[in-house]
Amino acid sequence: MTSLLVNDTVALDAGWVSGALSLREQVKVKDILISHSHLDHTCTLPFLIDNNFSAPGFSLRIYAIAEVIASMRNHLFNNHTWPDFTSLPNDMTPVLKLVEIAPEQPFVINGLTVRAIHVSHIVPTTGFIVEDKKSAVAFSSDTGPTQRFWEIVNTVKNLKAVITETSFPNELQDLANVSGHLTPATLDLELQKLKKDVPVYLYGGKPKHLDKIKRQVKALKRKRLTLLTQGRTYNF
Ligand SMILES: [Zn+2]
Repeated sequence: MTSLLVNDTVALDAGWVSGALSLREQVKVKDILISHSHLDHTCTLPFLIDNNFSAPGFSLRIYAIAEVIASMRNHLFNNHTWPDFTSLPNDMTPVLKLVEIAPEQPFVINGLTVRAIHVSHIVPTTGFIVEDKKSAVAFSSDTGPTQRFWEIVNTVKNLKAVITETSFPNELQDLANVSGHLTPATLDLELQKLKKDVPVYLYGGKPKHLDKIKRQVKALKRKRLTLLTQGRTYNF
């Protein structure tokens, strides 16, 4: 379940927003960047809206590339899986706006400049580079070996950290390959593409394999490479 909360108000993915945050914290989240349609990155969107629907002034903007917006319209907010909140309580002032973004085109949300960069997963997926005036953080989201993301990351002036994934241990490399994920072995190759000396944080380890993934990541003997800690606040 993947969600990263930035400055209390912007979420990168919504795999666990309503699960991780109190109601008081949830209502502050106004903008959510969605990397791709998979449930472990979107599944708390319905509950986040449901929990806060009646809160005064509540509204939510969800940003994603066109393919991901289409998937959310067709499969999530389709009046079957969940109500279409883009027309509730009425068409004029809906609580939910789905905002289509163009890859690699910067846009601004609440003082943060954001770019979506295509990565290599089994459904259309982008990572995000999020910057303010002094710091930038790059989040790959789910990906197997990829190229463009690293090319762009290497040009980011104030890059302070990279957050990427390692979902499976090396023994399950075949599964990682067919599902568009990384293992410690392919992560090691990916990090050779990163030309900036910044800390790298990992998410996405499948719970059943987490201990093994940790051991294999440690065995890479890369400095500044650690797994993200659930619930922890990081300052960049
Ligand atoms: Zn995925």
